[in-house]
Amino acid sequence: MGRAFVYVILGGGVAAGHAAHEFVKRGVSHGELCIISEEPVAPYERPALSKGYLLPEDPARLPAFHCCVGTNEERLTSKWYKEHGIELVLGTRVKSADVRRKTLLTATGETITYKFLIVATGARALKLEEFGVSGSDAESVCYLRDLADANRLVNVMQSSSGGNAVVIGGGYIGMECAASLVINNINVTMVFPEPHCMARLFTPKIASYYEEFYRSKGVQFVKGTVLASFDFDSNQKITAVNLRDGTKLSADMVIVGIGIRPNTSLFEGQLTLEKGGIKVNGRMQSSNSSVYAVGDVATFPVKTFGETRRLEHVDSARKAARHAVAAIMEPEKTTEFDYLPFFYSRVFTLSWQFYGDNTGDVVHFGDFLGNSFGAYWVNKGHVVGSFLEGGTKEEYKAIAKITRLKPAIEDLADLETQGLEFALAL
Ligand code: FAD
Ligand code: NDP
Repeated sequence: MGRAFVYVILGGGVAAGHAAHEFVKRGVSHGELCIISEEPVAPYERPALSKGYLLPEDPARLPAFHCCVGTNEERLTSKWYKEHGIELVLGTRVKSADVRRKTLLTATGETITYKFLIVATGARALKLEEFGVSGSDAESVCYLRDLADANRLVNVMQSSSGGNAVVIGGGYIGMECAASLVINNINVTMVFPEPHCMARLFTPKIASYYEEFYRSKGVQFVKGTVLASFDFDSNQKITAVNLRDGTKLSADMVIVGIGIRPNTSLFEGQLTLEKGGIKVNGRMQSSNSSVYAVGDVATFPVKTFGETRRLEHVDSARKAARHAVAAIMEPEKTTEFDYLPFFYSRVFTLSWQFYGDNTGDVVHFGDFLGNSFGAYWVNKGHVVGSFLEGGTKEEYKAIAKITRLKPAIEDLADLETQGLEFALAL
């Protein structure tokens, strides 16, 4: 059994949705494009799963957050794909790929052939087992990567109302889920190995603002240690978690957010890999010229840093996906991808944005006791990164612009005094 398409997108997440939209904008013909996804629904904006989806009242549910509502564009439901002659092969895992023969083999035994392939397989959540802890398949232990995980988490939260949750990991999932648990009336203790939350991005000063805010909402922090084991009752229900430092925390539920691994395995030994992802050039093209890669799975040249990076954020997935489609459909008109990294989060009433790179000296500014503050990162005499909490649309635009322009900084103290005004004045 087999079918042939000009363009195939492997994976049905954020990058796939935005790529499909771009294909249609650029005039793909009916029957030319196919999307194969393990998930049973059309591509959706994954960030909703740790935010609106977990709200106790009026939660976000599909079809409201299908791509591309995240960028205020059309909402692409299954009907939209049908109307544009795009084949959506859902609930189907690709189990092997042969880039020499340009074929994919699905778990249902179908062979799908392509002329151009866009790999958008994203990533999977790391499991506690990979750190030597067993029992994470227990009923009340939750991970969060896809819709099925989110539904499970909602059920577990509902049955734990008024109870205790332990959140393992102080990164994005940990921070956003902890906030959602509080809003759902669950007592939260966060456990992570670093000295402060969001250790890869936040400075200790920025982190302490968020930790204080979380504490004011009742969240407790246990830092510098990791989970060692679970305690279960006679019904195999979790009753407590044991930490490596000897602490025992009583728990009705556990959420684990300890990082991800990009889904590269189909292409190992076939495409060049770098920094854990599929290495692509500025056209998002891999070491095989018919295969492109975008989103969490791709390691691409970030021009402004002069080096390759693999980013795990939605803005980069959306833009890289559109760039790959442009490079495939209009190669002569498409230049190298020139992307400024952008990360953001929203928790409780807080909201921050970060642009660029967090390397070099840090200059904090603003009111860390109030609700708007930020930081610049200055490397080799130039601004390379900016962070802002509680900004307006114009202020976020200004810090993005300044980071892209990389102005020279002679005096860090002067930059600190000017603070946000420095970006606004530019
Ligand atoms: P994904 O969206 O993960 O899509 C990958 C797709 O490939 C999935 O549909 C998967 O089922 C499919 N797939 C994988 N392997 C196969 C296979 N062998 N066969 C068939 N299908 C396959 N980023 C932000 O910047 N801001 C946020 O607020 C934010 N919130 C997030 C909240 C959550 C809960 C999560 C999990 C992530 C969040 N992110 C956020 C990160 C962001 O969602 C990802 O960077 C983005 O989804 C990456 O897009 P992608 O298309 O590369 O991968
Ligand atoms: P992150 O990489 O953000 O954070 C993982 C955290 O877990 C780190 O603090 C890490 O510490 C810690 N950790 C690692 N191993 C252990 C362990 N054994 N026990 C306890 N803690 C541990 O990953 P997440 O899981 O939070 O997020 C998954 C993905 O989802 C990421 O790609 C993220 O970008 C994305 N996401 C993005 C959001 C956003 O941009 N707003 C929101 C939600 C998800 P260390 O640093 O020392 O390894």
